[in-house]
Amino acid sequence: MEFDWTDEDAAYRAELRAYIRKMLPKGWRGYDQTDRPAYKTAARAFAQGMAEHGWLTQNWPKEYGGAECSAWRQAILGEELTPIGEPRGSQYMNVNWIGPAIMRFGTEEQKLNHLRRIAAGDVFWCQGFSEPDAGSDLASLRTRAVRDGDDYVVNGSKIWTSHVGIADFCILLVRTGEPDSRARGITVLIVPMGQPGFTTRHINSLAGDESHYELFFDEMRIPVSARLGEENQGWEVVRWALAYERVGSTQYQRAAVQLAEAAEIAIANGKFDDPEIQSRFGEAWAACQAARLLTLKVYDLREAGSPPTADSNLSRLISTDCLKMVAQLSADVLGLEALDRKGPGIDPIRNASMAVASGTSEIQLDRIAIDFLGLPRSK
Ligand SMILES: Cc1cc2nc3c(=O)[nH]c(=O)nc-3n(C[C@H](O)[C@H](O)[C@H](O)COP(=O)(O)OP(=O)(O)OC[C@H]3O[C@@H](n4cnc5c(N)ncnc54)[C@H](O)[C@@H]3O)c2cc1C
Repeated sequence: MEFDWTDEDAAYRAELRAYIRKMLPKGWRGYDQTDRPAYKTAARAFAQGMAEHGWLTQNWPKEYGGAECSAWRQAILGEELTPIGEPRGSQYMNVNWIGPAIMRFGTEEQKLNHLRRIAAGDVFWCQGFSEPDAGSDLASLRTRAVRDGDDYVVNGSKIWTSHVGIADFCILLVRTGEPDSRARGITVLIVPMGQPGFTTRHINSLAGDESHYELFFDEMRIPVSARLGEENQGWEVVRWALAYERVGSTQYQRAAVQLAEAAEIAIANGKFDDPEIQSRFGEAWAACQAARLLTLKVYDLREAGSPPTADSNLSRLISTDCLKMVAQLSADVLGLEALDRKGPGIDPIRNASMAVASGTSEIQLDRIAIDFLGLPRSK
């Protein structure tokens, strides 16, 4: 059995690396996201350049801007772009799960409108799921949409929404069923940012200066034609999108890069002489490799036409465990210096917050227990 990449995939990876070297300054570590217009312009230019090479959505159908390549091309894209600081900006979300959700659940008009713009590297999205009392228990969300003729009228709020400062659209979860309808009463809407009745507020957080926002909806009107999927059937969209989200950005690769940086620091400051530290570096490295295999397995299943399985929860759990191990090691190697906002330790510590995004580690474990191991739900 052959486990290596095909010659074509390997050549693609090499071309991608050469392009990255050409487009980004040496040692580039990500955008300064506090200068939103400059960030958006630079991220769009990078993504558009990739789109011109046909690299952004290679595994999509031709009519929506793809080249009908295998899903492995998306895996390579994630492995090359996530660890260096994601030069597509938040467009990684479009390609990883918002696009696939529109592809599966959208109307033909929505596909033509949105997928082509995503494939062209031209548009930024954010994801309005979590609410103040509906994070892990997402099915309890309360932002309400009431039908009024050809519109929905939306009232409520969201919290912890990432990438709002540069977004053009929000993929929004609303309750259209009875208040206690839980997963049976949720609908997905595609909402343009700046819609009347839609305001946002920035939140400072450890995850990064521009990371999080609150969203507020006050009698916001959205046409029924902007609904993604059927009314009250949004949970299926959510489950699909989250399964794609959990493997899309290759956190294990990011952890591996930061682990190598922490090792260099530990060798320089003598901490690496401690055998216990050495063995923890070894364990973290092994975990990164295991997470990689688990993630590639998800792509393999997808390539074989399988619907999402708990393998994506397993991949996410181990990948974010890697981030936590690397954050802890960085803190131990650097001491208090790790908390310096511009220092080398802070990035791994910030990244460890990804173990909360897209479902906390405990929620991944819940899904693995139920869907993978077949264990009964607790009462
Ligand atoms: C970096 C980052 C980016 C994010 N981006 C977005 C975004 O773009 N859009 C968006 O909608 N949201 C986003 N979020 C929010 C994220 O989805 C929620 O924070 C997450 O789902 C957890 O919800 P919560 O914060 O309400 O915590 P809670 O649900 O209140 O959980 C608190 C603690 O209780 C534990 N817990 C809860 N339920 C269970 C259970 N059943 N079994 C065991 N333990 C449990 C949790 O694991 C956690 O440790 C982001 C979060 C982060 C950190």
